[in-house]
Amino acid sequence: MPVGEKRLIQNIRRWARRGPTVATGIGDDCAVLRVPRGHELLVTTDFSIENVHFRRDWHSPEVAGRRCLTRGLSDIAAMGGEALAAFLSLAVASDVPQKWVDRFLKGLLDLANEFKVPLAGGDTAQSLRGMQADIVVIGSVPKGKAVLRSGAKPGDFIYVTGELGGAAAALAELELAESKRASVRLSGHVSLSGRFSVGSSRHASKGPQPRLAVGQRLRLRGVVSAMIDVSDGLSTDLEHICQESHVGAEIEAEAIPQALVRSGKRVGLEFALHGGDDYELLFTSAAKIRARVAEVRVTCIGRIMHSGGMRLIDAEGKARRLKAGGWEHFRGNL
Ligand SMILES: [Mg+2]
Repeated sequence: MPVGEKRLIQNIRRWARRGPTVATGIGDDCAVLRVPRGHELLVTTDFSIENVHFRRDWHSPEVAGRRCLTRGLSDIAAMGGEALAAFLSLAVASDVPQKWVDRFLKGLLDLANEFKVPLAGGDTAQSLRGMQADIVVIGSVPKGKAVLRSGAKPGDFIYVTGELGGAAAALAELELAESKRASVRLSGHVSLSGRFSVGSSRHASKGPQPRLAVGQRLRLRGVVSAMIDVSDGLSTDLEHICQESHVGAEIEAEAIPQALVRSGKRVGLEFALHGGDDYELLFTSAAKIRARVAEVRVTCIGRIMHSGGMRLIDAEGKARRLKAGGWEHFRGNL
């Protein structure tokens, strides 16, 4: 085993905290997990690939690491579950500085500790180029209680937590800066990657916040008919609910909570509609939900319809067809 890989495993063992859900963690052939009585397991897996999901010259390693685990935790949140343990497989090429990898791990493990989710295992390997991470999160939910995408009914209200578009707007700023050949490497590196992480004003230095408490609270109340996390963008993720539930949807442009950015302005509607990586929860309910759940803002943005695809109602009350991922800009890269 190369020295770098050995050190990586040592660091992971040293930094990863144990938790009551893990009977046997790193150091054996398998982890042994304790599953709460009467629960079913939830399993989710997500890639974080350099130059696809993050760029080393744009993102701070801590933010990239945090986002890697956020993707998994947010999926558990969307099912109304609790997270039991995480597993990380990491492939790193020799051109990636050890310090970068260490800081990536630090960002990931800080979030794991914040949510008391033990890192209970994984794998490391040498990659030919760049860095690839795969995060697996195991969660649980009481038997038969997982909140699915397929339960939305005509007439249900559509809700979203937090604010949308912050991450995409910050990314667009970086792209703009690059296309203008701004001297990202010379002078802007630190401030620009900083700006990415402050896409949403509420979590100034931390990046996105997986909504585990909100998801669990909503599941316990038993009022949610369908739920998904907003990872690919509101329009794309709402379409997933519509397809799985065989319904249509109508949302009001004016109701969509557009993220506040550092300048004090709101992001444009297109960012809030189509931008990804916000990790808020999108859910439907026949009931009126109060404006805050687990201290997180919840906004009603529309209604589920019998059919007719997705429609967006503008400020003048005019309806237009809403297409998933309607912004080519976000396709294919990052
Ligand atoms: Mg998801």
